[in-house]
Amino acid sequence: MQVLLAEEYGFCFGVERAVEMVEGALAAGATVRTLGPLIHNTQEIERLEAEGVQMITAPEEAAGGVTAVIRAHGVTPQVQIELQSRAANVIDATCPFVTKVQKLAERAALKGRDVVLVGNPDHPEMIGVVGYAPHNTYVIRDASEAANLPPLHAPLVVSQTTLKLSAFLEAAAAVRSKADAEPEVVNTICSATRDRQDAARALAGHVDAFYIIGGKHSSNSIKLLAVCAEQCAKSFLIETPDEIDVEDLRGAERVGVTAGASTPNWLIEQVVTKLRSLGDERNATEAVAAVN
Ligand code: SF4
Repeated sequence: MQVLLAEEYGFCFGVERAVEMVEGALAAGATVRTLGPLIHNTQEIERLEAEGVQMITAPEEAAGGVTAVIRAHGVTPQVQIELQSRAANVIDATCPFVTKVQKLAERAALKGRDVVLVGNPDHPEMIGVVGYAPHNTYVIRDASEAANLPPLHAPLVVSQTTLKLSAFLEAAAAVRSKADAEPEVVNTICSATRDRQDAARALAGHVDAFYIIGGKHSSNSIKLLAVCAEQCAKSFLIETPDEIDVEDLRGAERVGVTAGASTPNWLIEQVVTKLRSLGDERNATEAVAAVN
């Protein structure tokens, strides 16, 4: 049984950077608290907890000389200021791709322009961006919601970093009917999600089973599962190697592996090692059967 890894998988740039920043603070002896879960991966969070990293849910909890970490999704400027006033030190691990959206929205609003964000209004990234232009920003999930927008002045249209390009372009086109000038459309989608999906799609048609390693509630992992399942009926979203069911691998010659953007390498290695050992066991059993 061959185990094949997709060309792109696992930690994206922003998540890797955030984890490295936390590890750097720990190495320097800081008492580290993250505002919200640092990443959407239970196993990695547990590993960091074992090293002393705890989570807080509000800036008020950042008292007592702690180093507070802003995660990759970013926060509103108001939350950042509050955190800075309470914590001994603040590490801003906002992903630079998210910072770009925040700055674009802020600059447009300062010029009196309206801003349309295409994405999930409840997602922390979107809540953070709205905080940079609170009086001029409208969030729409998709093209259909553009109908609810008020008349817009010289709008800037940007997207949540994890959105699908086609959904963004459709929504941006729909905004035109509400604008007093041609909207400025800036594609702020990060390629990490798309690259992982493209790589999974490229492999899915060539394997008999596909394991997607990621949190059961991680939206990018769930999307990866959907992409794989389109071409490989035996596609499974797992969090740990313990969830691999040997029965699912019966008859499989080639097994694909990918992982969501919050899945650490050590977990991916555990899954690959387990799959390879199951393959070795099967080869040994088949060899014995052939001899007999
Ligand atoms: Fe940054 Fe993209 Fe990762 Fe989000 S998915 S943290 S935008 S690299």
